[in-house]
Amino acid sequence: MTETATATREARPAIFEERKDQIHRIGSEPFSMACNRDSLAGAVSQRACVFCGSRVVLYPIADALHLVHGPIGCAAYTWDIRGALSSGPELHRLSFSTDLQELDVIFGGEKKLAKALDELIARHSPKAAFVYSTCIVGLIGDDLGAVCKAASLRHGIPVIPVQSEGFKGNKREGYQAACKAMRQLVGTGDISDISPLSVNIMGDFNLAGETWIIKRYLERMGIQVVAGITGDGRVDDLRRAHGAGLNMVQCSGSTQDLAKMMRDDFGIPFVRVSWIGIEDVAESLYAVADHFELKHPELASGLVERTAELVRDELSNLMPKLAEYRRDLEGKRAAVYVGGSFKAFSLVKAFRHLGMEVVIVGSQTGTEEDYRELAAICAPGTIVVDDANPLELSAFIKEKDVDIFVGGVKERPIAFKLGVGFCDHNHERKIALEGFEGMLNFAKEIHASVMSPIWRFVPRREFGLNKKDAEV
Ligand code: SF4
Repeated sequence: MTETATATREARPAIFEERKDQIHRIGSEPFSMACNRDSLAGAVSQRACVFCGSRVVLYPIADALHLVHGPIGCAAYTWDIRGALSSGPELHRLSFSTDLQELDVIFGGEKKLAKALDELIARHSPKAAFVYSTCIVGLIGDDLGAVCKAASLRHGIPVIPVQSEGFKGNKREGYQAACKAMRQLVGTGDISDISPLSVNIMGDFNLAGETWIIKRYLERMGIQVVAGITGDGRVDDLRRAHGAGLNMVQCSGSTQDLAKMMRDDFGIPFVRVSWIGIEDVAESLYAVADHFELKHPELASGLVERTAELVRDELSNLMPKLAEYRRDLEGKRAAVYVGGSFKAFSLVKAFRHLGMEVVIVGSQTGTEEDYRELAAICAPGTIVVDDANPLELSAFIKEKDVDIFVGGVKERPIAFKLGVGFCDHNHERKIALEGFEGMLNFAKEIHASVMSPIWRFVPRREFGLNKKDAEV
């Protein structure tokens, strides 16, 4: 690299002027953060589009057909990247697109969409079909609703339009579009055999079997699980989801809108939960037990005691093992950048159990209140960031000299280019990281990554670019 190129790179500001109010350094000034606004054009945001938000939520519904109406590029992000697991049908593993071309843009894509639906429904016999609108469909004005309605009448299954034109907002709008689409199914199934002590598991996508872990805990407590929304999801379960006594909503954004609709339309209360870490998992289980003990004392006898026994059992197995990992990890530093801020909270607490400090924490979709609460539990000097981009994250990671970066598929290359350990806590993970057993898996993975000798040989360490070189 020439001297001029190096100088130019170093002179380049890491933080755009327009983004300064979306970054907060704890303790430097009174808390204030702008968030939940459109990403800065040209900043190459880590955040995904509206269509991506809706697809993230709906794709784990395993017996539905998922058809992306748009150019082939929109459909590129497939099951191979976000491998939600199913205990039964696996239609969701196939990606379908109408592959719109120039002539479709000029003459409209409705006929092509209707033909694709006829062909795919005949071939795969899905329980329902979701049809995703993308940017170009919003621009050319195809009437998705009319095409879906006609296909639904022709084939006798719900064909549901997902109004997720990529340009119309940020990922949060995608969550909302997905919730509106699912709401069309909820309330259409028979609920006569559902126990009053029952829940829907919402906002977990069963990427590596996490929904099954949570389901096992709930079943040990004596709670019936009606629907995974959408982890290990089924169309018929969604139809019956209004029969549950309580909605357990993980993640601040993805399924909360549906929980609110179900509260307003069917009177089902919801509690916000997190299945990550130790305290948050235990508190989530106790929240369910407390709810039913209050609501149905005659049916919930012994529920709190059973919950306490479960938590005690799990912790007596987990804590001694964590102590072993903690011995090596004490004092190491982590950066966390995830989709929803709920996960960031839980990860800050989970890292503390490993003796580690989170020095950078951010999310794609947090609210000001979320960030304020995050700032309250992190140490002075921690950088809190909303809707970051690679330039910022790279600069923060170098500044804080972290030992591990926790993120998703888009954060992985940033970590590896900088020579920092990475833990995928999102799309591509193959190891369950939720529940008490998930905490143990998390500790194992963090330990293996942070303690790997490979980091001694990465350029930034080799050339003495970091103050911690002496330690390695
Ligand atoms: S919907 Fe729009 S923003 Fe999203 S992937 Fe397709 S073209 Fe890109």
